[in-house]
Amino acid sequence: MNAALKFLPHEHLKAWLEELAGTMRVLAPQKEGAAVVYRAFDPSREPELIRKPTESAKHILFPRSEALFAFHKKKAPFAPDSLNPDGSQAEKEEPATPAMELTPPEQPGPTVVFGMTGCDAGGVTTFDPVYGGRYQDPYYLQRREATVLIARACNEALSTCFCTWVGGDPANRRDADILATRLENGWLLEPLTERAERVLGSTLLGDAGEAEAREAEALHAKARAAIGEAPDLTGIEDALPALFDDKDFWWSESAACLACGACTYLCPTCHCFTITDEKAGLSGVRLRAWDTCMAALYTLEASGHNPRGQKAARLRNRVGHKFAYFLKNHQGRISCCGCGRCIKSCPSSVDIRRIVLNALKRAKGKEAANG
Ligand code: SF4
Ligand code: SF4
Repeated sequence: MNAALKFLPHEHLKAWLEELAGTMRVLAPQKEGAAVVYRAFDPSREPELIRKPTESAKHILFPRSEALFAFHKKKAPFAPDSLNPDGSQAEKEEPATPAMELTPPEQPGPTVVFGMTGCDAGGVTTFDPVYGGRYQDPYYLQRREATVLIARACNEALSTCFCTWVGGDPANRRDADILATRLENGWLLEPLTERAERVLGSTLLGDAGEAEAREAEALHAKARAAIGEAPDLTGIEDALPALFDDKDFWWSESAACLACGACTYLCPTCHCFTITDEKAGLSGVRLRAWDTCMAALYTLEASGHNPRGQKAARLRNRVGHKFAYFLKNHQGRISCCGCGRCIKSCPSSVDIRRIVLNALKRAKGKEAANG
């Protein structure tokens, strides 16, 4: 028996989340129309813990739009021209620089996300080296530290799921703080990091035994088998740059793309943003909002030149960033967690798995042809 494992009977789930909501912000997947979205836990409703959320969980740590700070410009006080006693103009003092008041935004306090998919937890840890590495983003880091991620193991896999291709797993122990597995009679909670201690002190939780651990492992193995064997992606980080100038390849792969951007907005690992100042009078807010490299305006320069004016170039950048450039910058980590949302939601059936496999095949073919 593993003393660290906890067991929560199904009938106690809502009571436990309600108890947590007394001291922290609790989020869980919730049905909203035809979609499943991460929302504040509502005790009057059942969280949706079977269907895969339509959106990813990234907005919890990286909001769609957020105020970085509010600003208010204070005008310099009026300083009349002054004259010397003999009537001549006195030497002017340097005008006072107008003062700028900056007000930081309020940040959410302690938070727990219950029931995120393992791939969504993988999305979060893909963000970590971007916003917590060479460049430290205090907004992201504050939320990251305050948030406990409870990933639920996927007992079923969709035909679009491919987490195992990119280092993930339906029972993702690498990226979450707690792994929760839905068993027949309740949830098995496996703490994985120190953050887990913040939420596992409840008397509603009991200790779990070997039987529960075995039941969970059998479910995990079934989900892995449903995804099937992962292809070998070794060399993809070289294959994609090798095809950079292969216009035929990128035109063909991007032919169906409508440039709607759904793939990037739903993606748990896409992290581009734009910054604007919204100003009225002397006050305003500096805003950061999600942006998408699949949009033509993303790279439009003030001169009118656009280095990625064609959708083929934009798709090349999106796939290249996830499966080549990111790996080189971040110790071999692929910037895709295999959630499959971009495949499921693409109106034109553009499939990133197919592009990656085609790229590997084409680059190998070219290499062989060149001897
Ligand atoms: S979702 Fe599909 S059509 Fe829309 S931008 Fe992405 S690849 Fe293109
Ligand atoms: S690229 Fe597609 S499959 Fe990969 S993480 Fe983004 S949405 Fe999911």
